[in-house]
Amino acid sequence: MLLRELHQRIQRHERSFHFPLALVIMRSTFADSWALDRKALVPYLKGNLHIHTNLSDGALAPKEMLEIYRNLEYDFIAFTDHDFLIKPPYWERLPDGDEHLIVFKGIELEYPPLNYQHIGKILGDQETLFIFNHPNLYRLSIPELKQQIALVAQDMPIHCLEVTDKGIYTPMYDSPEILLPKIATDDAHTSDQCGWAWIEVESAKGRDAILQAIKKGNCRIGLK
Ligand SMILES: [Zn+2]
Ligand SMILES: [Zn+2]
Repeated sequence: MLLRELHQRIQRHERSFHFPLALVIMRSTFADSWALDRKALVPYLKGNLHIHTNLSDGALAPKEMLEIYRNLEYDFIAFTDHDFLIKPPYWERLPDGDEHLIVFKGIELEYPPLNYQHIGKILGDQETLFIFNHPNLYRLSIPELKQQIALVAQDMPIHCLEVTDKGIYTPMYDSPEILLPKIATDDAHTSDQCGWAWIEVESAKGRDAILQAIKKGNCRIGLK
């Protein structure tokens, strides 16, 4: 009799919502605080990895472009003037950043074996990031794009794919068929081309940390 009553009470308890509900509350509270902790430790940093200046075919001086992105409250930018237009001392003329705005020095390479396909090369402290730029400019199909990435990768590593064309999103290339992380950039040549497309990188604030996070795909696209 006593045993049967106990058994019934256990069954009633199992049917009641107290236990699962308590678990749900515990789990969500834990998950929220974990997310907050992670957010506090590793913020999302906003940046643009494709900028042209008057050191190649851009309209403004590097310092002027830097100030535009500073006013837009970006966390990092990269200067990437065209390799066939720059003159020495290009690298020395690129300004440094500071603790608010990290600056990467970079260059946009032309790859002659592939109809002068553009490749972004971004220098960190130790890390270097190579970006396959604007496939839309060449109207590449997905199979063509895969083939071209594989061809370039024989000469240099390709770490990510630009899925914008001068700041305009080209969703066709934001495809799971391409296994590389996807990035968005302004490819800005003038002041009114700034602030249209960016990436948000889950990373500590440092040049190499940002490039490593992009290589791992710890970033998302942002569009105005
Ligand atoms: Zn250009
Ligand atoms: Zn280009």
